[in-house]
Amino acid sequence: MNPFETDLLLIPGPTPVPPPIQRALAEPILSHRGGEFRGVLERVVAGLKTAFRTEGDVLLLASSGTGAMEAALTNALRPGERLLAVVNGKFGARFAEIAEANGIEVTRLDFAWGQPAEPETVRATLAEGGFRAVTMVHNETSAALVNPTREIAALAREHGALMIADVVSGLLSVEFAMDEWGVDIAVSGSQKGLCLPPGLAFVAVAPRGWEAIEANTKSPYYFSLRAARKAQAKGETAFTPAIGIIRACEVALELLLGQGIEAVLERNRAMARATRAAALAMGCTLLAAPGFESDAVTAIVPPEGVDPDAVRADLKKRFHITCSGGQDALKGRILRIAHMGAIAPYQILGALAALEVCLRDAGCEGFAPGAGVAAASAILGEALR
Ligand code: PLP
Repeated sequence: MNPFETDLLLIPGPTPVPPPIQRALAEPILSHRGGEFRGVLERVVAGLKTAFRTEGDVLLLASSGTGAMEAALTNALRPGERLLAVVNGKFGARFAEIAEANGIEVTRLDFAWGQPAEPETVRATLAEGGFRAVTMVHNETSAALVNPTREIAALAREHGALMIADVVSGLLSVEFAMDEWGVDIAVSGSQKGLCLPPGLAFVAVAPRGWEAIEANTKSPYYFSLRAARKAQAKGETAFTPAIGIIRACEVALELLLGQGIEAVLERNRAMARATRAAALAMGCTLLAAPGFESDAVTAIVPPEGVDPDAVRADLKKRFHITCSGGQDALKGRILRIAHMGAIAPYQILGALAALEVCLRDAGCEGFAPGAGVAAASAILGEALR
């Protein structure tokens, strides 16, 4: 390998950390009980509120995204209360698993991975009554699919249940509007659309979320959202924060929000459209149902007889490009290419050219040379005009 060549990371988190954010990470550590950090925290929280599109609170936790999922569930629900967990991928299932581990009574509503949650089925299940909350993943990373969160949140509200949404990979990578859509609690993490290292998680809480949290006398200790809110009101965090990542988060938010959320989403849309068009032009199909494909990550199904894991291994070996495979039920069936965060159009075009080589050598041959890149570059060329 050329010693100056760096690997291209195209997995759906952690995503590459661009140089301005790397430089912020190299800054000296600040006291987390001092004025300078207080200013950083204030600006980061303000930026995150814009990103979540909420007037509610955004609380910072030193954890990965799963910690924020657990914090949301254990603060808002008591053991024995009923949760409707909408599951169409690994992370929807994770909500159900966390709830079960904490004594919450879970009803799982499963849809095929790659198919969106169906509002009518959710409505019928909610109509059975007694649900305290609904969980769903907005951008289900494992299936590269965006769920109809706005519709499901409206149904939850209609039935007196809280809407808890996972936007771990959705924040600043696909459209999300917490307040307008009526989401009561939303969780996210640093290592996806924000282009930060893993280790910082966010819980956004709107007024109905707080009502549930305040009514719950049994709160966790480290993940107490009441304690987090109390500390943040004083410009601090309840425990030692992920200081370095929070400083870098200020820079990430400045860079991303400086362009405007719509510009960030539009770029992702173009990259996703290009990737999907290339996959189809190279004889593959897409896992996600048409109209519900994620703009953060694309799940590609190669033709029968072509092993996606062998293709991925070859991409890594010859081109130093790392993409993801399928998880759980999708193991060995798909490969996933992420295009959120700091990934550039030229990197996607290069990756698609390399993918063509690897697909062809794995036996996927029924397409004209260059067909994938031609389809993708036509879309990107037009979109970036
Ligand atoms: N939810 C979604 C949609 C994710 O993509 C991920 C991580 O890939 C998680 C939750 C879990 O986050 P973490 O791995 O940071 O705990």
